[in-house]
Amino acid sequence: MITMKTPLVEMDGDEMTRILWQMIKDELILPYIDLKTEYYDLGLVNRNETDDQVTVDSAEATKRLGVAVKCATITPNAARVEEYKLKQMWKSPNGTIRALLDGTVFRAPIVVKGIDPCVRNWKKPITLARHAYGDVYKNVEIRAPKAGKAELVYTSEDGEEIRETIHEFIGPGVLQGMHNTDASITSFAHACFKYAIDSMQDLWFSTKDTISKKYDHRFKDIFQEIYDNEYKEQFEKIGITYFYTLIDDAVARVMKSKGGFIWACKNYDGDVMSDMISSAFGSLAMMTSVLVSPDGVYEYEAAHGTVQRHYYKHLAGEETSTNSVATIFAWTGALRKRGELDDIPELVTYANDMERAVIWTIESGKMTKDLALITSNENVVVLNSQDFIKEVRKTYDSIA
Ligand code: NAP
Ligand code: MG
Repeated sequence: MITMKTPLVEMDGDEMTRILWQMIKDELILPYIDLKTEYYDLGLVNRNETDDQVTVDSAEATKRLGVAVKCATITPNAARVEEYKLKQMWKSPNGTIRALLDGTVFRAPIVVKGIDPCVRNWKKPITLARHAYGDVYKNVEIRAPKAGKAELVYTSEDGEEIRETIHEFIGPGVLQGMHNTDASITSFAHACFKYAIDSMQDLWFSTKDTISKKYDHRFKDIFQEIYDNEYKEQFEKIGITYFYTLIDDAVARVMKSKGGFIWACKNYDGDVMSDMISSAFGSLAMMTSVLVSPDGVYEYEAAHGTVQRHYYKHLAGEETSTNSVATIFAWTGALRKRGELDDIPELVTYANDMERAVIWTIESGKMTKDLALITSNENVVVLNSQDFIKEVRKTYDSIA
């Protein structure tokens, strides 16, 4: 039994992933680790009961304890308000947590032999670093009902005004106001440079600064300045590079690349490109995701949602074959980080071995249905949700 020092922040979630969460704990964690967690139930029922205070509390706990592991959660829409009889349409927990931790989300595919990327030349994983603050995710929009003038006005705290005409509408239209802050862009840049050094990978960054000459250009300048002043020397010493290019050029180059680098994107680009990268590498269920805050706080999760369709099958008593890999890796990622921070080498070894056990299980042909459909492996045994986790445990016991 491995003992822990500092507890993990455990954020439980919804639907099928909540079911997997318990299975993973029972089969793959509790038999080996004297697990210490501070538990927050982010399931929609409890978020509604606590007026979403539990989400804020879990983020505060993450700041205090340093490492969290999060289960996928429902982001309510109108249908969910009805289904769960919600007091209101609570905000996305991920949005709330990201806003409080102000971080960067790093997503990397879990590469397994037999699940080959659609892009033939990708030999190594591509890690996507997504800025998790601002732009279109914190925008203000107006639907202009008829002809009129739209202006952008900034009033400084001492009353100085900057005013630009956005458009003279001659008929109805739409407009949008976005912002970002130097502070958030700066912490995004630091998170990316640090992650590149930690993982010894090149860093690419792309925006559309030729069109957005002030907004996107600010991102480019902040990155360059921080790189030159604080990271250039270290990058050169360990033989990695920082490379800036336009987003469209980056897309073209990524497709032709061999992989093995970090691609930093603004919030929206990162949202879109991470789904492109993950599906090209196989599946959203084979993607790790970690939010790194500027003060070095980590929140690990799976990149996919709560797999609602499978949950309803499960509720109806039907067998499911839901892929638990990304959720297992969220746990191992968090436990490994805890091991590193608290200097518990057995915990780091446990996490490495458990990840190897997952990969070997799949490579030996035992996998869930989603992977069976895309694998080039010829002797495949399709397992249900529970049996896959049990197989991983057997593999782990044989190697650890
Ligand atoms: P989803 O849960 O990611 O599932 C979409 C589809 O992808 C599933 O129906 C399934 O396809 C496949 N899939 C995803 N994960 C899988 C897994 N682990 N194993 C096997 N197949 C998997 O997305 P969604 O259905 O759009 O969203 C469901 C709920 O999740 C929503 O309420 C949304 O708000 C929430 N969500 C949460 C997060 C988060 O907490 N990070 C992220 C995204 C969405 P098949 O049905 O074809 O088998
Ligand atoms: Mg998305």
